[in-house]
Amino acid sequence: MSAIVEAIEEYRATLTKGVELIAVSKTFPKEYIEDAYTCGQRHFGENKVQELSDKAESLPKDIKWHFIGHMQTNKIKYIAPYIYMIHSVDSLKVLEAINKEAAKNQRTIKVLMQIHVAQEETKFGLLPEELYALLDEGKWKELNNVSICGLMGMASFTDDMQQVRNEFTTIKNIFDTCKGKYFTDNSDFCEISMGMTGDYKIAMECGSTLVRIGNGIFGKRYYQMQ
Ligand SMILES: *Cc1c(COP(=O)(O)O)cnc(C)c1O
Repeated sequence: MSAIVEAIEEYRATLTKGVELIAVSKTFPKEYIEDAYTCGQRHFGENKVQELSDKAESLPKDIKWHFIGHMQTNKIKYIAPYIYMIHSVDSLKVLEAINKEAAKNQRTIKVLMQIHVAQEETKFGLLPEELYALLDEGKWKELNNVSICGLMGMASFTDDMQQVRNEFTTIKNIFDTCKGKYFTDNSDFCEISMGMTGDYKIAMECGSTLVRIGNGIFGKRYYQMQ
């Protein structure tokens, strides 16, 4: 068994029931993805449009690609034909642009609204009040080619695990508020994408449904080969 397959099996054994494992393959070569694919892994995450396009073109078509990087409106067209889910929508403008490109491809694209709860200035995402304002405005309801499936967020980069837990709990509370106020009759709105290699267990305890694991799966072997 390869180190990658071994790592995936280890992660699977620790997942809470109903949580999906996204293998974040950004910066790793496509052979690593092929390796993960052999043990049934189908959800992969990438954060650069060009890199994702190169990989998607030559890899099996039943892979479900998740875009987790900052989304520029002018690049959506390149991934719109096949992208499974875009985790990083942080404005109405981006939402409208995705809707337009999805319509051109006669499909509906699943998206998550990215919210900012971490301490760092550099992290992208909507502040909770900005998200509520966007949802209150209501224009999103007219966008028939996007399906808002939930929220994505990142905790601060810190060793203080209590702070990480508080931030994930904040994301979960914002999700519950949105669900109750805007998406009560919408069963698509059911995903919370939070948790990475260092904090995914805490994220699952706080209600995550999608964990995004990169280095924990692919890193070890990568560093061994350097
Ligand atoms: C890189 C990345 C991950 C994976 O991080 P690891 O620490 O390698 O598990 C998860 N989410 C986002 C948004 C990322 O950019």
